[in-house]
Amino acid sequence: MHIPFLSFAGQHEAIRAEVLAAMAGVYDRQWFVLGEQVAGFEREYSQVSGVAYTVGVGNGLDALHLSLRALGVQPGDEVLVPSNTYVATWLAVTQAGGVPVPVEPDPRTSNLDPARLAAAITPRTRGVLPVHLYGQPCEMTTILEVAARYGLWVVEDNAQAQGATWQGQPTGSFGQANATSFYPSKNLGALGDGGAVTTNDASLAHKLRQLRNYGTDQRYVSETLGYNSRLDELQAAVLRVKLPYLTTWTQQRRQLAAWYGHYLADILGLRLPTVAAGAEPVWHLYIVRTARRAALQQHLAAAGIETLVHYPVPPHLQPAYASLGLGKGALPIAEELAATCLSLPLWPGMTEEMVARVAQAIRIFADGQP
Ligand SMILES: *Cc1c(COP(=O)(O)O)cnc(C)c1O
Repeated sequence: MHIPFLSFAGQHEAIRAEVLAAMAGVYDRQWFVLGEQVAGFEREYSQVSGVAYTVGVGNGLDALHLSLRALGVQPGDEVLVPSNTYVATWLAVTQAGGVPVPVEPDPRTSNLDPARLAAAITPRTRGVLPVHLYGQPCEMTTILEVAARYGLWVVEDNAQAQGATWQGQPTGSFGQANATSFYPSKNLGALGDGGAVTTNDASLAHKLRQLRNYGTDQRYVSETLGYNSRLDELQAAVLRVKLPYLTTWTQQRRQLAAWYGHYLADILGLRLPTVAAGAEPVWHLYIVRTARRAALQQHLAAAGIETLVHYPVPPHLQPAYASLGLGKGALPIAEELAATCLSLPLWPGMTEEMVARVAQAIRIFADGQP
């Protein structure tokens, strides 16, 4: 049995006719950029996200970058970011002219440790950018409290957590502006690039609509130095078909995670994910941790089981961020997580039998260790 890391086969087959009809509709209407599909998707996504406004943009990185621009980030402004996130989170801060200031995660949840925020705040700090990594909601209550105490804004990176909740409230609805991505492999994925900002602030939503479209919302009038980053009609039409299925796909992800928890229990040397009290995760990724990652990954590959590592090198050790002068050892928790994390296959359509097979292969590996 070959078990791929990710497969769209089951999901796509079930909605094939609906998606193709939606695409044909765009083709026939002959309106391809900022039309009724984007407007309709923005309305519907706002509804499921529990926010007043959604602004569709070109991708998740732009959603983060434009959020920071809309909030007025100035050169040299410091933004607190997790030390162990995907590099896009940091890049958005850099692109907006700010300085990413890493904060170490709680090693149990892999999410930003709220207890470490205050110590990282300086007179230059403007905001906090929590990432709901792997689909696990951050501890938003404490993060919002600290931000309010120091007069900071909050921008959530919700790229991996569509449908997740913190104390019953959807992630992507807590910060002043919140970014998400519809990259194909995300929980709600387009058939190409796409992203969105969610917000309850009408003036921020207005600024974002300008920023994504050359700084204009009136033809040939440029009010601010804008960009070209728009969700297109074709992707919006596909996302509108997929959105009503998100709850079902999330339930499937939760079931798969529960099966992993069951079948992987009590394996020596293997750490399973911890869910914070108050968090309802959506399992974008299922991450285990082991000191013998390379050997385990090889063993699983030989058994026909594909795994990946999210992420093998933390942003501060990337060549692109060498100028920050944060060498090896500067952020030990992020480095430890990067060295030990392993992502197991998890996708809607995967079966209990497949989960059991993955777990069995891991158990055989663990039993063979000295
Ligand atoms: C995918 C992702 C992004 C970037 O989204 P793109 O659409 O690929 O630009 C940003 N942050 C996180 C945490 C992501 O997983």
